[in-house]
This record gives sequence, structure tokens and C-alpha cells, in this order.
Amino acid sequence: MDKELLAMLVCPLCKGKLKYNRERQELCCHYDGLAYPIRDGIPVMLPEEARQMDVDEKLPASPGRTGEP
Ligand SMILES: [Zn+2]
Repeated sequence: MDKELLAMLVCPLCKGKLKYNRERQELCCHYDGLAYPIRDGIPVMLPEEARQMDVDEKLPASPGRTGEP
């Protein structure tokens, strides 16, 4: 991912900054709880293509997490 390109990208919903997840190849908006996929190096900035993040992904720290049901 090009860092300059990355810096230009904002969430299409809230226009907020996105966080690049290198491991998952996703751009995350923690405000909306959505992760936009990066396919072949190209960010897909479509809310309908975005993945809904888990609660523990939205929050930086969640010590009281009980686990999946
Ligand atoms: Zn957003």
C-alpha cells in the first residue's frame, strides 16, 4: 500500500481517517465499525463491500471481553 495514497483515503460515510490493517489488507473506520477491503492493492471504498468489524476490533482495549457465544 502506498502511504501517500493511504493518507488521502477517508471513510466514504463519515469522511474520517482510516486505519490500515496490514495483516488483513483492510482499511478500517473505527467510527463506523467498518473495514474496507484492499483487493490487488486497490482499496474498495464501498460501504456495501465493507466488512462489519467485531466489537473487540472497534475498541482498542476491552479487558472485560467474555468471548464468543
Ligand atoms: Zn466512517
